[in-house]
Amino acid sequence: MSTDGSGVDDQLRLMAVHAHPDDESSKGAAAMAKYVADGVDVLVVTCTGGERGSVLNKKLDQPEVWANIAEIRREEMDKARAILGIRQNWLGFVDSGLPEGDPLPPLPEGCFALADFDEAVGRLVAEIRTFRPHVMTTYDENGGYPHPHHIMCHKISVAAFDAAGDPDRYPEFGTPWQPLKLYYNMGFNRDRMVALHEGMLAAGIESPYAEWLEKWDDREDHGDRITTRVPAGEYFDVRDEALRAHATQVDPDGWWFKVPLSIQQQVWPTDDFELARSLVDSPLPEDDLFAGVRERVRA
Ligand SMILES: [Zn+2]
Repeated sequence: MSTDGSGVDDQLRLMAVHAHPDDESSKGAAAMAKYVADGVDVLVVTCTGGERGSVLNKKLDQPEVWANIAEIRREEMDKARAILGIRQNWLGFVDSGLPEGDPLPPLPEGCFALADFDEAVGRLVAEIRTFRPHVMTTYDENGGYPHPHHIMCHKISVAAFDAAGDPDRYPEFGTPWQPLKLYYNMGFNRDRMVALHEGMLAAGIESPYAEWLEKWDDREDHGDRITTRVPAGEYFDVRDEALRAHATQVDPDGWWFKVPLSIQQQVWPTDDFELARSLVDSPLPEDDLFAGVRERVRA
């Protein structure tokens, strides 16, 4: 807590809720690094330990990695946390992996998506009342992509945002605290992909997006929901370094790293969000998650 000597707490705090270790480094990570540099206290809450994620890095798809995957993913998260300059807590639920097949197999017993909803919300309410964030981020109702744990992450985040300030809800979990704004990560949209694709073609580089754009289903595009673009291009390198720290989860030769940072910084230098809930006045569109909040906290 930073105070100015008058006992006033004017420290800005941001809480980002994510489903798995590595999500924090691929969704809104550059914006988090920017806020850390600006002196904001940033806490990532990770719902699951990512125990059943796939190993996407061929070099690490080894029996000894699989035997220790939970521990390895905690170590990877520690590295990413240090690179981003954030704090990080585990909510303590177990991962299911991404169910695949037709019909889909049942979710494994005991996993996050099957957890008791009120208990899961309660755990996040306790995190909110301890950290006391002014702003929270999570995924939209589709989870950003349809992983059952991303959707569960969305549901408990919205419910906890609404419950944390209510003294009648979860009275055993601390003093009520009402965050002022809730955002959904909106990094995945067609306009951004087109901009990166065209930027690469203009630079004479093969684009990894051609096939994606051909298959793009416009119903899945939520680009028109973006309310808030946070300039964060300066921190794209920090974001990529944090993502690489999740070594089992990223293919170092994959498409993510194929777009030169200079092109990203030139054609799409923002992390994008949708303002989903707000208790302050801030005209839209915005370029700051704390728009309308700074004034309130410092008043
Ligand atoms: Zn995830």
